[in-house]
Amino acid sequence: MLSWRAPLKNDLEGVYKVDYAGEPYIFTQFEAIDARDSMPCFDEPGFKMPIALRITAPKGNVAVANAPLASSTNVEGGTRYAFKATQPIPIYLLAFAVGPLDVVDGPVLDKNALRDRPLPLRGIAPRGQGAQLKTSLAISGQIIAWLEQWFGVAYPYDKLDIVAVPDFAAGAMENAGLVTFRDALLYVDANSPIGLQKGNAYVIAHEFAHQWFGNLVTMAWWDDVWLNEAFASWMENLAVHAVRPDFNALTEARAGTDWVSGEDSLVSARQIRQPVVSKGDIINAFDGITYTKGAAVIGMFEHWLGEKAFQQGVRAYMAEHRFGNATAEDLLDSLSRNGRRDVATPFSTFLDQPGIPYLEAKLVCQSAPVLEVKVSRFLPVGSTGDRNKGWGMPVCARALGADGKWSESCALIDGREGKVPLTGRSCPKAVHPNADGIGYYRWSLPADQLKGLVKQLKTLAPGERISLKNALRAGYASGTLPFADALTGAEPLARDLEPTVAGAPSGFLWNAHDDLVEPASRGKVRARLASLYRPVLDAVGKLPKAGEDPRVRERRALAWGMLAGAEDKAALADLAKLGRVALGLDGPPGDIPADLKDAAIGAAVKQGGAPVFDKLVERLATENDSMMRRYLIGALGSVDDEPLAGRARALSLDARLRTNEVLSPLWPQAGDVRTRDATWAFVRDNLDALIKRLPETFGADSLPGLASGFCTEARAAEVDAFFKERASSVPGMERALAQSVESIRLCAAKAAVHRDGARRLFR
Ligand SMILES: [Zn+2]
Repeated sequence: MLSWRAPLKNDLEGVYKVDYAGEPYIFTQFEAIDARDSMPCFDEPGFKMPIALRITAPKGNVAVANAPLASSTNVEGGTRYAFKATQPIPIYLLAFAVGPLDVVDGPVLDKNALRDRPLPLRGIAPRGQGAQLKTSLAISGQIIAWLEQWFGVAYPYDKLDIVAVPDFAAGAMENAGLVTFRDALLYVDANSPIGLQKGNAYVIAHEFAHQWFGNLVTMAWWDDVWLNEAFASWMENLAVHAVRPDFNALTEARAGTDWVSGEDSLVSARQIRQPVVSKGDIINAFDGITYTKGAAVIGMFEHWLGEKAFQQGVRAYMAEHRFGNATAEDLLDSLSRNGRRDVATPFSTFLDQPGIPYLEAKLVCQSAPVLEVKVSRFLPVGSTGDRNKGWGMPVCARALGADGKWSESCALIDGREGKVPLTGRSCPKAVHPNADGIGYYRWSLPADQLKGLVKQLKTLAPGERISLKNALRAGYASGTLPFADALTGAEPLARDLEPTVAGAPSGFLWNAHDDLVEPASRGKVRARLASLYRPVLDAVGKLPKAGEDPRVRERRALAWGMLAGAEDKAALADLAKLGRVALGLDGPPGDIPADLKDAAIGAAVKQGGAPVFDKLVERLATENDSMMRRYLIGALGSVDDEPLAGRARALSLDARLRTNEVLSPLWPQAGDVRTRDATWAFVRDNLDALIKRLPETFGADSLPGLASGFCTEARAAEVDAFFKERASSVPGMERALAQSVESIRLCAAKAAVHRDGARRLFR
């Protein structure tokens, strides 16, 4: 019998305390290895066991845990809760919560062909907040039902609770049967901003997918955490597509490749399966490579293998390892067996080496048309990496025939070069080297063939337009596509009906604005940005109409955000008016369109100056709504005039901010070229205090990222020297530092290539 005492922590790790609306609560976050902060245990994922918890809580409190309650007994001063033993779980999935909690009933899923008992869903929230979980509980039921059918395996545990946590480091955590979320992600209904409604569905689907990927079958060691995260990230899109087709999840899945390809172009990028020998390695493993690249690679191989064969492979893997542990080899073996081809060899080339492939593609029509490809590692101009890499890579191209129809052809390219034979005899009118954008690679075409493809923009699938946007970014980053060509190629995409495509030109313009043109010319760059998105706003209308497609709502929010970023006077005035209403600055607060709140409150603070700034800082002491807090802190953090900007930075160390809000005012300060230097000075002066206030994971380790917006060699050296010593004692910070410094150096090299081109355009 072991006996021990441990203090409650306050840094969102282990067993930690949160004060909410004046009352104390206890929540837990054990992944990855923070259970050991609170109790003696073996919290390596390879150890799975049933766990029976008993919790004695003072009067007026409720306790919940992974498993259903077995009994509760009144004891002196409170209640003793005894929970049933769990199914075998690793310690990192253990969880409980104690406090004056609301417990609300959600739907009960009837028993079905897979599950021999009903499954009750409940929502848990701080006192008074339970009613806000209604919509989340409803979609939770739909998602679980869909996942059970996909896996062909019943939900593995006896009950399922979703828990709204007011201060939480990550987005959510898939604890078996007791899934915890940032509260704002669950307090969602049909009146919420469209981005939040979608985030709610995605995160719930992600955590629920883990109940199979990760919980039922757990990775044997942390180097295979992609078996959890890549799969849950891939699966969330399928599940959301099934229950909310209007959320456009399959197209958004394609945007992941575009988003993560910058990170994967760094020499300091991780591999999906990177050896793990330290706590820092584990923290680093929860990155864009594991989640987003992992999901994209899975999507590519699912397409190659076929949906059915892939699903059978996953089902067989689940059946073989249920309630146990498994490795990447186990999964790849199962996929190969069920797909009747060798999946393991090509798939491993993506797991075990870093980088995104670069496909130099060329349509050749000598006899039968083929797409000839040369493969190397994509590296931006200035990179010190080795381009001579190959992959085992399914490549699918689409070609436009003389009959006006697009058709797809696929081939497995092994190594450094190969050919994709295209259908038909005659030479295609155009070719896209990444059909539906499903492939995890960047590509280029000869200039005339790229022009031919751009002419067909309107007939390309959404995933192909996202992939085209990525190709423009790749050409620009590698220095082969001049500034003017990149911009003119991307500008028509601003009017694209897909919100994930429509932001395309802004990246080039912000690069010019911050790091290429003379400061005196920045106004011209912003005017160009505004000129691209004013017509978008005119097309979708300034204000929402009932029953709109989510994509229209997102394009409206995007256009307002772009115009606000461009400091378009008319837009800022319109937004500030709305923002004052939302904040109740001129009377009682009123409703404004949810999708515009972010930009509107930002504009109201910018326009209102110190009096509004002061009022909102004061409000942070009493405002309990996490979403409103996010708007407030985002708006306060976005002021650019001193001395207000200095006060915004100082907020990060203000006791009125929650632990998971500490970095929120600093990111916009670091991202604005006018406050970038001052933010860096602030980080240098307050490093110890920041590290002390932040959690280790998703906190202190990310601090070097605040300097990654710099763009000169001198700054790269300075950032490196400043953090170097500190980084070795903060788990995970060394890689974050390497990536930040490399990004700064690459930005400097890119600026050297594009500076003249941008200055010619914006004189
Ligand atoms: Zn996850």
